[in-house]
Amino acid sequence: MLRQPLLALSRSAAVRELVSTLPVSSGIVRSYVPGETTEAAVAAATGLVDEGLRVTLDFLGEDTTDHAQAEATVRAYVELLGQLSARGLARHAEVSVKLTAIGLALPTAEQGTGFQVALENARAICRAARNAGTTVTLDAEDHTTTDATLAVLRDLRKDFPETGAVLQAYLHRTEADCRELAHEGSRVRLCKGAYDEPEEVAYQSRLDVDTAYVRCLKILMAGQGYPMVATHDPRMVEIASSLANRHGREQGTYEFQMLYGIRPEEQRRLAASGETVRVYLPYGGEWYGYLVRRLAERPQNLTFFLRSLISKK
Ligand SMILES: Cc1cc2nc3c(=O)[nH]c(=O)nc-3n(C[C@H](O)[C@H](O)[C@H](O)COP(=O)(O)OP(=O)(O)OC[C@H]3O[C@@H](n4cnc5c(N)ncnc54)[C@H](O)[C@@H]3O)c2cc1C
Repeated sequence: MLRQPLLALSRSAAVRELVSTLPVSSGIVRSYVPGETTEAAVAAATGLVDEGLRVTLDFLGEDTTDHAQAEATVRAYVELLGQLSARGLARHAEVSVKLTAIGLALPTAEQGTGFQVALENARAICRAARNAGTTVTLDAEDHTTTDATLAVLRDLRKDFPETGAVLQAYLHRTEADCRELAHEGSRVRLCKGAYDEPEEVAYQSRLDVDTAYVRCLKILMAGQGYPMVATHDPRMVEIASSLANRHGREQGTYEFQMLYGIRPEEQRRLAASGETVRVYLPYGGEWYGYLVRRLAERPQNLTFFLRSLISKK
């Protein structure tokens, strides 16, 4: 199993420096990230929407310890949301936000606690999304941020009840979180989880993670909320469809979500069968952490990656 060693290796500054010399146009980066600019993101979103898919856009970045950078991220989202509205895309495109990109990881000495900064910044993005006619979903990061993320979510939902949450099935706590969030009006994205987590908090084996995913799906599909089934796993897709059937859910009362560049034919097949399918579309220059998580999920891509690194293409 290469997943954990790869995620651990990625924390080395030397590895980061080496990998970050790749241009965003290089094959491996481009297969997961369509570009760096708002224009590139909007162009990619337009293409997907024209094919009958929906989109959630992520301005890449995480673990920001610099106040100015957190503010720049908020501005990038506000600009993006303005563009989505101007191009008539807002009905089909929303945004995904990582709280550590907008202040949650700031040193406490800087302008109040990271929590408050992240909350205010998230509020600004929610306001821009509301004005544009769309929504925000808060991404889930490593388990040390889960309580803070769900607390920000609760606060945001007082003014912006349409704000979506992400829960990671690999965390032991998640079944309880699903129960709490399976209420009417609640949008919950269920994913397996992409971080390197200790066994005290997370299931480690694929089988345990998959069975936890199914238990969580059952709770969300039986609940009153809007489940967002984020997986590329054919078995999970099939189980989600039969659970939706069992609970008398019509297509459109839940949705499937997949990452940009992963199983694109399946995304189109599901959409053609009448399902709502949303593609998670990351863009921007801070693609390192995102790319490493994708490689760790799919070590077969390592050869492709190493070839890109050697040729710098
Ligand atoms: C829309 C969306 C949003 C997400 N948001 C978050 C989040 O906020 N927080 C978080 O921790 N995680 C997030 N994830 C990632 C998620 O937690 C998993 O790490 C990831 O989706 C892989 O799990 P899987 O369910 O696809 O199943 P897996 O069992 O990992 O994969 C099933 C199949 O999918 C294909 N596949 C999976 N990964 C890749 C890849 N990288 N490249 C090529 N093919 C691949 C393969 O065919 C594989 O056999 C998100 C995933 C999606 C789809």
